[in-house]
Amino acid sequence: MTFIPKDWRPRDGELGDKCILVTGAGDGIGRAAALAFAKYGAEVLLLGRTEAKLEAVYDEILAQGGTRPAIVPADLAKTGHDELQALAGELSHSLPKLDGLLHNASILGDRKPLAQTSAAKWHETMQVNVNAAFMLTQAMLPLLEQAPSASIVFTSSGVGRRGRAYWGGYAVSKFATEGLMQVLADELGGISAIRVNSLNPGAVNTAMRRTAYPAEPPHTNPDPSELMASWVFLMSDSSSQVHGQALNAQD
Ligand code: NAP
Repeated sequence: MTFIPKDWRPRDGELGDKCILVTGAGDGIGRAAALAFAKYGAEVLLLGRTEAKLEAVYDEILAQGGTRPAIVPADLAKTGHDELQALAGELSHSLPKLDGLLHNASILGDRKPLAQTSAAKWHETMQVNVNAAFMLTQAMLPLLEQAPSASIVFTSSGVGRRGRAYWGGYAVSKFATEGLMQVLADELGGISAIRVNSLNPGAVNTAMRRTAYPAEPPHTNPDPSELMASWVFLMSDSSSQVHGQALNAQD
Protein backbone atom coordinates (compact mmCIF):
# COMPACT_ATOMS: atom_id res chain seq x y z
CA MET A 1 0.00 0.00 0.00
CA THR A 2 1.32 3.43 -0.84
CA PHE A 3 0.60 6.38 1.46
CA ILE A 4 -1.66 8.24 -0.99
CA PRO A 5 -5.36 8.20 -0.03
CA LYS A 6 -7.11 5.65 -2.24
CA ASP A 7 -9.39 8.08 -4.05
CA TRP A 8 -6.87 10.94 -4.35
CA ARG A 9 -6.23 12.22 -7.86
CA PRO A 10 -4.38 15.45 -8.65
CA ARG A 11 -6.75 18.02 -10.07
CA ASP A 12 -5.81 20.47 -12.83
CA GLY A 13 -3.78 23.23 -11.22
CA GLU A 14 -3.05 21.09 -8.13
CA LEU A 15 0.37 22.77 -7.81
CA GLY A 16 -0.62 26.16 -9.25
CA ASP A 17 1.12 29.07 -7.56
CA LYS A 18 3.85 26.77 -6.24
CA CYS A 19 7.54 27.04 -7.00
CA ILE A 20 9.48 23.79 -6.66
CA LEU A 21 13.23 23.15 -6.89
CA VAL A 22 14.20 19.71 -8.23
CA THR A 23 17.78 18.43 -8.10
CA GLY A 24 18.91 16.03 -10.81
CA ALA A 25 16.07 17.34 -12.96
CA GLY A 26 17.66 16.43 -16.29
CA ASP A 27 17.11 12.68 -16.28
CA GLY A 28 15.30 9.74 -14.74
CA ILE A 29 13.00 10.34 -11.78
CA GLY A 30 13.97 14.00 -11.39
CA ARG A 31 13.08 14.74 -15.00
CA ALA A 32 9.71 12.98 -14.65
CA ALA A 33 9.01 14.82 -11.39
CA ALA A 34 9.83 18.19 -12.95
CA LEU A 35 7.50 17.47 -15.88
CA ALA A 36 4.74 16.27 -13.54
CA PHE A 37 5.04 19.29 -11.22
CA ALA A 38 4.88 21.60 -14.24
CA LYS A 39 1.91 19.69 -15.68
CA TYR A 40 -0.03 20.44 -12.49
CA GLY A 41 0.83 24.12 -12.59
CA ALA A 42 4.09 24.57 -10.66
CA GLU A 43 6.96 26.80 -11.67
CA VAL A 44 9.92 24.44 -11.57
CA LEU A 45 13.57 25.24 -10.91
CA LEU A 46 15.61 22.64 -12.77
CA LEU A 47 18.92 21.98 -11.01
CA GLY A 48 21.45 19.59 -12.51
CA ARG A 49 24.94 19.16 -13.86
CA THR A 50 24.26 18.55 -17.59
CA GLU A 51 22.85 21.72 -19.08
CA ALA A 52 21.79 20.11 -22.37
CA LYS A 53 19.51 17.72 -20.46
CA LEU A 54 18.05 20.57 -18.39
CA GLU A 55 17.40 22.54 -21.58
CA ALA A 56 15.56 19.55 -23.07
CA VAL A 57 13.32 19.36 -19.96
CA TYR A 58 12.81 23.13 -20.15
CA ASP A 59 11.63 22.77 -23.75
CA GLU A 60 9.34 19.86 -22.86
CA ILE A 61 7.71 21.88 -20.08
CA LEU A 62 7.03 24.77 -22.44
CA ALA A 63 5.77 22.37 -25.12
CA GLN A 64 3.26 20.88 -22.67
CA GLY A 65 2.03 24.40 -21.86
CA GLY A 66 3.68 24.72 -18.46
CA THR A 67 4.91 27.82 -16.69
CA ARG A 68 8.36 28.86 -17.91
CA PRO A 69 10.88 27.00 -15.68
CA ALA A 70 14.33 28.15 -14.64
CA ILE A 71 17.58 26.30 -15.23
CA VAL A 72 20.04 26.13 -12.34
CA PRO A 73 23.29 24.55 -13.54
CA ALA A 74 25.17 23.02 -10.61
CA ASP A 75 27.46 20.04 -10.18
CA LEU A 76 26.67 18.96 -6.64
CA ALA A 77 29.94 17.04 -6.44
CA LYS A 78 31.75 20.37 -6.61
CA THR A 79 29.28 22.86 -5.17
CA GLY A 80 29.92 23.97 -1.61
CA HIS A 81 28.26 25.97 1.13
CA ASP A 82 29.21 29.39 -0.25
CA GLU A 83 27.91 28.70 -3.76
CA LEU A 84 24.63 27.32 -2.45
CA GLN A 85 24.17 30.30 -0.12
CA ALA A 86 24.86 32.58 -3.11
CA LEU A 87 22.30 30.65 -5.18
CA ALA A 88 19.68 31.11 -2.43
CA GLY A 89 20.52 34.80 -2.31
CA GLU A 90 20.05 35.14 -6.08
CA LEU A 91 16.76 33.22 -6.00
CA SER A 92 15.44 35.37 -3.17
CA HIS A 93 15.71 38.43 -5.44
CA SER A 94 13.26 36.93 -7.95
CA LEU A 95 11.16 34.58 -5.81
CA PRO A 96 9.00 35.54 -2.85
CA LYS A 97 8.95 31.95 -1.57
CA LEU A 98 9.89 28.36 -2.31
CA ASP A 99 7.08 25.81 -1.86
CA GLY A 100 8.92 22.60 -2.56
CA LEU A 101 12.39 21.09 -2.57
CA LEU A 102 12.91 17.64 -4.07
CA HIS A 103 16.32 16.24 -3.26
CA ASN A 104 16.61 13.73 -6.06
CA ALA A 105 20.15 13.89 -7.52
CA SER A 106 22.31 10.97 -6.44
CA ILE A 107 25.11 8.80 -7.72
CA LEU A 108 25.58 5.07 -7.25
CA GLY A 109 29.24 5.22 -6.34
CA ASP A 110 31.19 1.97 -6.21
CA ARG A 111 29.06 -1.19 -6.33
CA LYS A 112 31.78 -3.21 -4.63
CA PRO A 113 32.56 -4.79 -1.27
CA LEU A 114 33.49 -2.14 1.31
CA ALA A 115 36.97 -3.65 1.40
CA GLN A 116 37.47 -2.55 -2.22
CA THR A 117 35.57 0.73 -2.19
CA SER A 118 37.82 3.66 -3.08
CA ALA A 119 37.94 6.45 -0.53
CA ALA A 120 37.61 9.02 -3.32
CA LYS A 121 34.39 7.41 -4.60
CA TRP A 122 33.08 7.12 -1.03
CA HIS A 123 33.61 10.85 -0.48
CA GLU A 124 32.04 11.78 -3.82
CA THR A 125 28.97 9.65 -3.04
CA MET A 126 28.56 11.27 0.37
CA GLN A 127 29.10 14.71 -1.15
CA VAL A 128 26.42 14.38 -3.85
CA ASN A 129 23.91 12.24 -1.97
CA VAL A 130 24.15 13.71 1.55
CA ASN A 131 26.35 16.76 2.02
CA ALA A 132 24.87 18.65 -0.91
CA ALA A 133 21.34 17.87 0.28
CA PHE A 134 22.22 19.18 3.75
CA MET A 135 23.82 22.37 2.40
CA LEU A 136 21.06 23.01 -0.13
CA THR A 137 18.39 22.51 2.53
CA GLN A 138 20.17 24.91 4.87
CA ALA A 139 20.49 27.51 2.12
CA MET A 140 16.84 27.22 1.04
CA LEU A 141 15.21 27.17 4.49
CA PRO A 142 14.60 30.95 4.62
CA LEU A 143 12.77 30.85 1.25
CA LEU A 144 10.86 27.71 2.26
CA GLU A 145 9.78 29.46 5.48
CA GLN A 146 8.12 32.15 3.35
CA ALA A 147 5.69 29.61 1.84
CA PRO A 148 2.40 28.91 3.63
CA SER A 149 2.89 25.13 3.38
CA ALA A 150 6.27 24.00 2.04
CA SER A 151 7.39 20.42 1.42
CA ILE A 152 10.89 18.96 1.47
CA VAL A 153 11.26 15.47 0.01
CA PHE A 154 14.48 13.50 0.40
CA THR A 155 14.90 10.60 -2.01
CA SER A 156 15.78 7.39 -0.25
CA SER A 157 16.19 3.78 -1.31
CA GLY A 158 15.45 0.29 -0.06
CA VAL A 159 19.16 -0.06 0.79
CA GLY A 160 18.87 3.07 2.95
CA ARG A 161 16.45 1.23 5.18
CA ARG A 162 18.15 -2.14 5.28
CA GLY A 163 21.80 -2.43 4.33
CA ARG A 164 22.79 -4.86 1.63
CA ALA A 165 26.15 -6.28 0.55
CA TYR A 166 28.01 -4.44 -2.22
CA TRP A 167 25.85 -1.31 -2.07
CA GLY A 168 28.69 0.47 -0.23
CA GLY A 169 28.66 4.23 0.13
CA TYR A 170 25.36 4.55 -1.73
CA ALA A 171 23.50 2.52 0.92
CA VAL A 172 25.25 4.35 3.75
CA SER A 173 24.42 7.70 2.11
CA LYS A 174 20.75 6.75 1.98
CA PHE A 175 20.77 5.84 5.70
CA ALA A 176 22.25 9.30 6.27
CA THR A 177 19.51 10.76 4.08
CA GLU A 178 16.89 9.15 6.32
CA GLY A 179 18.73 10.57 9.35
CA LEU A 180 18.79 14.03 7.80
CA MET A 181 15.06 13.81 7.16
CA GLN A 182 14.30 12.64 10.72
CA VAL A 183 16.43 15.26 12.46
CA LEU A 184 15.07 18.10 10.32
CA ALA A 185 11.48 16.88 10.68
CA ASP A 186 11.86 16.74 14.46
CA GLU A 187 13.40 20.23 14.55
CA LEU A 188 10.69 21.79 12.39
CA GLY A 189 7.67 19.94 13.79
CA GLY A 190 5.40 22.34 15.66
CA ILE A 191 7.44 25.46 14.88
CA SER A 192 7.28 25.59 11.09
CA ALA A 193 4.85 25.09 8.22
CA ILE A 194 7.52 23.09 6.40
CA ARG A 195 6.93 19.34 6.22
CA VAL A 196 9.78 16.93 5.64
CA ASN A 197 9.61 13.34 4.41
CA SER A 198 11.67 10.74 2.61
CA LEU A 199 10.46 8.79 -0.39
CA ASN A 200 11.84 5.48 -1.64
CA PRO A 201 10.93 5.22 -5.35
CA GLY A 202 11.33 1.43 -5.47
CA ALA A 203 12.68 -0.14 -8.66
CA VAL A 204 12.28 2.30 -11.58
CA ASN A 205 13.52 2.04 -15.16
CA THR A 206 16.24 4.72 -15.19
CA ALA A 207 19.92 4.92 -16.10
CA MET A 208 20.82 4.35 -12.44
CA ARG A 209 18.73 1.20 -12.19
CA ARG A 210 20.10 -0.14 -15.48
CA THR A 211 23.66 0.45 -14.24
CA ALA A 212 22.99 -1.23 -10.91
CA TYR A 213 21.27 -4.24 -12.54
CA PRO A 214 22.86 -4.65 -15.98
CA ALA A 215 21.40 -8.12 -16.53
CA GLU A 216 17.81 -7.06 -15.79
CA PRO A 217 15.54 -6.43 -18.81
CA PRO A 218 14.83 -2.66 -18.56
CA HIS A 219 11.06 -2.97 -18.87
CA THR A 220 10.89 -5.17 -15.78
CA ASN A 221 10.33 -1.93 -13.89
CA PRO A 222 7.94 0.99 -14.45
CA ASP A 223 9.11 4.13 -16.20
CA PRO A 224 9.38 7.12 -13.86
CA SER A 225 6.44 8.91 -15.50
CA GLU A 226 4.10 6.08 -14.44
CA LEU A 227 4.78 6.69 -10.74
CA MET A 228 4.52 10.44 -10.35
CA ALA A 229 1.33 10.52 -8.25
CA SER A 230 3.41 10.07 -5.06
CA TRP A 231 5.69 12.98 -5.93
CA VAL A 232 2.81 15.27 -6.88
CA PHE A 233 0.89 14.30 -3.72
CA LEU A 234 3.89 15.12 -1.50
CA MET A 235 4.23 18.55 -3.12
CA SER A 236 0.51 19.33 -2.97
CA ASP A 237 -1.38 20.75 -0.01
CA SER A 238 -3.18 17.40 0.20
CA SER A 239 -0.12 16.06 2.06
CA SER A 240 0.10 18.95 4.52
CA GLN A 241 -0.32 16.56 7.47
CA VAL A 242 2.33 14.08 6.26
CA HIS A 243 5.51 14.87 8.17
CA GLY A 244 8.59 12.99 9.33
CA GLN A 245 7.72 9.82 7.47
CA ALA A 246 9.79 7.33 5.50
CA LEU A 247 7.50 6.59 2.55
CA ASN A 248 7.46 4.16 -0.38
CA ALA A 249 6.24 5.03 -3.87
CA GLN A 250 5.60 1.38 -4.70
CA ASP A 251 4.18 -1.56 -2.71
P1 NAP B 1 19.51 8.75 -12.71
O1 NAP B 1 18.69 8.30 -13.85
O2 NAP B 1 20.93 8.37 -12.63
O3 NAP B 1 19.34 10.33 -12.57
C1 NAP B 1 20.05 11.00 -11.56
C2 NAP B 1 20.01 12.47 -11.84
O4 NAP B 1 20.86 13.10 -10.85
C3 NAP B 1 20.57 12.85 -13.21
O5 NAP B 1 19.82 13.89 -13.76
C4 NAP B 1 21.98 13.27 -12.89
O6 NAP B 1 22.51 14.20 -13.80
C5 NAP B 1 21.79 13.95 -11.54
N1 NAP B 1 23.06 14.04 -10.85
C6 NAP B 1 23.93 13.04 -10.58
N2 NAP B 1 25.05 13.54 -10.04
C7 NAP B 1 24.87 14.88 -9.96
C8 NAP B 1 25.69 15.95 -9.53
N3 NAP B 1 26.93 15.75 -9.11
N4 NAP B 1 25.20 17.20 -9.60
C9 NAP B 1 23.96 17.44 -10.08
N5 NAP B 1 23.14 16.47 -10.53
C10 NAP B 1 23.61 15.20 -10.48
O7 NAP B 1 18.88 8.21 -11.33
P2 NAP B 1 17.36 7.91 -10.92
O8 NAP B 1 17.17 6.46 -10.97
O9 NAP B 1 16.45 8.82 -11.60
O10 NAP B 1 17.46 8.28 -9.36
C11 NAP B 1 16.84 9.41 -8.81
C12 NAP B 1 16.80 9.21 -7.31
O11 NAP B 1 16.04 8.03 -6.99
C13 NAP B 1 18.18 9.01 -6.68
O12 NAP B 1 18.22 9.66 -5.44
C14 NAP B 1 18.25 7.51 -6.48
O13 NAP B 1 19.13 7.17 -5.44
C15 NAP B 1 16.82 7.20 -6.16
N6 NAP B 1 16.41 5.80 -6.38
C16 NAP B 1 16.28 5.32 -7.65
C17 NAP B 1 15.85 4.01 -7.83
C18 NAP B 1 15.66 3.41 -9.20
O14 NAP B 1 15.29 2.23 -9.30
N7 NAP B 1 15.86 4.14 -10.27
C19 NAP B 1 15.57 3.20 -6.72
C20 NAP B 1 15.73 3.73 -5.45
C21 NAP B 1 16.15 5.04 -5.29
P3 NAP B 1 23.08 13.74 -15.23
O15 NAP B 1 21.85 13.53 -16.05
O16 NAP B 1 23.87 14.90 -15.66
O17 NAP B 1 23.85 12.50 -15.00
